[in-house]
Amino acid sequence: MDSKKKIATVCLGGCSGCHMSILDIDERILDVAKLADIVKSPIVDGKEFPEGVDIAIVEGSVTSDEHWHEIKLIRKRSKFIVALGDCAVMTNVTGMRNYFPLQEVIDEAYKNSVSNDAEGAEPNDPALLKLHDKVVPLQEVVKVDFIIPGCPPSADTIFYVLFEFLNNRIPNLSEVNKLKYG
Ligand code: SF4
Repeated sequence: MDSKKKIATVCLGGCSGCHMSILDIDERILDVAKLADIVKSPIVDGKEFPEGVDIAIVEGSVTSDEHWHEIKLIRKRSKFIVALGDCAVMTNVTGMRNYFPLQEVIDEAYKNSVSNDAEGAEPNDPALLKLHDKVVPLQEVVKVDFIIPGCPPSADTIFYVLFEFLNNRIPNLSEVNKLKYG
């Protein structure tokens, strides 16, 4: 029987900067690979979020119907959800649009701004019509089991949290600060 755990990483409403920090784990990914398989991630193939995930690491906030359905599915299929980064934890940059009416934001982005895209998204693009009026953090839609704050969180912190979970321990973020600052 395969005793390796299953990890998934997902990007919802974020800038992918948190995923860049995951990549900054560098060669320590080999330590992770001994204990777990990455079964879904922007950096591996596979479209559908699989069943039986042990740890889902989710970047970004919930901004649209698509994100809402995705995080619900992730919750259903994962034992642990880790909210990765300030957008997932408290909306952060993604939530800056909450101060303005949605239509004003769409007009500003797609009508009034100068763009180099010959065929960019149109203001009536169906994807835009499914945007929610307000951006919300993950925990307003599903139960979140652990948060990693930061914009982006450091690779050291991400690795520490992952490694603790993979060894069946609950991470204690103050331990990372002790390692850094003594
Ligand atoms: S927390 Fe920062 S780095 Fe991560 S997705 Fe949001 S803006 Fe990007």
